[in-house]
This record gives sequence, C-alpha cells and structure tokens, in this order.
Amino acid sequence: QARLLFPLMALMRVALDLQTSGALFARIFEYLDLRPAITDAPGARPVPEATATDAAGRPILGRVEFDRVAFRYPDADHDGRPTLDDVSFTIEPGQYAAFVGPSGAGKTTVSYLVPRLYEATGGAVRFAGVDVRDLEHESLVSNIGIVSQETYLFHASIAENLRYAKPEASDEELEAAARAANIHETIASFPEGYDTVVGERGYRLSGGEKQRIAIARVLLKDPAVLVLDEATSALDTISERVVQAALDDASRGRTTIAIAHRLSTVVSADVIFVVVAGRIAERGTHAELIAQGGVYASLYREQAERPEVPTA
Ligand code: ATP
Repeated sequence: QARLLFPLMALMRVALDLQTSGALFARIFEYLDLRPAITDAPGARPVPEATATDAAGRPILGRVEFDRVAFRYPDADHDGRPTLDDVSFTIEPGQYAAFVGPSGAGKTTVSYLVPRLYEATGGAVRFAGVDVRDLEHESLVSNIGIVSQETYLFHASIAENLRYAKPEASDEELEAAARAANIHETIASFPEGYDTVVGERGYRLSGGEKQRIAIARVLLKDPAVLVLDEATSALDTISERVVQAALDDASRGRTTIAIAHRLSTVVSADVIFVVVAGRIAERGTHAELIAQGGVYASLYREQAERPEVPTA
C-alpha cells in the first residue's frame, strides 16, 4: 500500500526546492498537519561517503538505481494501470540522465521516488548502492538537490533563503554560490542587497531570478544528485539562456536526473530514458536512439519540425 511519508524537517528541505506548482505544494502543507513521519528503519545508515566504492572498486555516491520499481499513487482512480511498472535503470555517479516522453508518462514520478516523497510499491530504489528504505532519511535528502520551474522562497531575506540550504555558510560562500548561479549582480543591484526580503509580500523577483536563487541554494547544498524538473518554461529566451548556463554548471560533475523538455540538454545527455505509460520504452544516447528509429526518434523529429513544442 502506497503511503505518503512526510517528516517535517526532511520534507521542508525537499519542499523548499520543489515545485509549488498546483496541488502538490498545497497537499504537502495539508499533510504537514497530520505530522506523519518517515521513521528510519532499525539500523538505518547514513548515505555512504564520497570515498566509498562498490565491490568492483567503483565510486558509489551519486549512483541512482531503480530495480523493477512499481508505483501507484494512493489516490489513483483510473483504469487500474500502475503509474510506474517494472522500471529498472542505473545512473552512474556524475552522469547526466534525461527522462523524456509524453505528458503523464511518469517522468516526474520517477524523481519523487528518489527522496522518498512517495514510496515505491514494488521493487527497490537504491541510492549510492543502498535501498533508500535502509538510509537515514535526513541523510538521503541532504544528498539530493531539486530545481524546478516553480521555486518556493520563504518570506525572508535572500541571505536567509540561501542559508536554508547551509545554515553555517559564510557571506563569502553565499556570494560565490550566487555568482556561480549568475544571480550575484542582480542581488547586489537591489537597494538592500542580500538583506532584501523576498517571498510572499516581499520584493518581487522574476521567474528567472527566483530560479537562479534556487540554483544558488542547490550549489550551497552541494548534493551528490541533482534533480532538474524542466517543466515547460515561462521564461523569456534571454532569461532562459542565463538559467540554462547556471544549470549546466550546477550539473557538471554531479549525477543529474533531468525531467527534460529542452532539446539541447537531451541531445547531450549521457543517457536518455524514454518513458511511455509508466515503463521505460527505450534507453540510450541521442545517436543510439535516433538510429533505433523508435519513439524517441519520432519525438525528436516532431520537435525539430516544430521547435516551439516541448519534447514532453
Ligand atoms: P508531464 O510531462 O506532463 O509533467 P510526467 O511524465 O512527468 O508528465 P507524471 O507527473 O509523473 O508524468 O504523472 C504520471 C501519472 O500519474 C499521470 O497519469 C498523472 O496524472 C498521475 N499523477 C501524478 N501525480 C499524481 C498524484 N499526486 N495523485 C494521483 N495521480 C497522479
């Protein structure tokens, strides 16, 4: 039986970077009142150190593995078909993995199962070689950074919003992260700089500015795994380019799970997973999938002909 598992602290950390879009965020706060918790399993362990290796001597921090994962939303009504069915893949440390496919195929759901926002109903999700259910949840969540189109900022100063990811960060660290995310100059141009209060009723930031603050926050957190939810962007082209450059930097050297809509990031991905109706229908590099002439190839052709249509 699928359950929603929302421990307050860990959830806040996930939720902060997670889309406020639509029902999800409202639902999260609804569930906060119920105060359910992911209770760590007896003997739960922290995520292995960066130096840990598997039996073959390969590094494991940053590896994300789905092993015959099945999932069904608790409130899923329709047609009895599971949301994810028999999904297996391995993303190696540092790899950039793009998930593409038709709307509603289950791409975003894949990303929810990694931080245990929802629990797989069958099979196993492994993080750094360990079943996520056997990891201390705080430790798991601290190793995952999420950037999505809809960014939640607290009604607090920019500095406080950034420090949420790393309370002990120095001013210099904040600035370095903001520079890397291409947002320092903008912040510095505000009358109150990093003390500018944002969020609800605060200083109004553009979508692109908010996103870059979210990227700076992820850089401060320095997670082994980055989840990018590229839901179709409302950003203008220039702003999108700046955000894209910041994201490219943020994903370098880090396992990246991209729910991909931008052709450019898909084409250069180390591996592409094509999700259709809750299953991985095809996998491979762009060149391999084009040569295969299947679903991906036709999606790609469609988009190449009509560039304004997203890949998913
Ligand atoms: P898109 O490209 O449109 O974002 P997606 O491939 O990311 O789509 P998901 O968001 O993972 O698809 O959704 C997969 C399926 O699960 C869809 O049928 C969707 O309606 C359903 N679904 C998503 N969230 C929930 C939820 N909270 N409760 C019940 N069903 C859900």
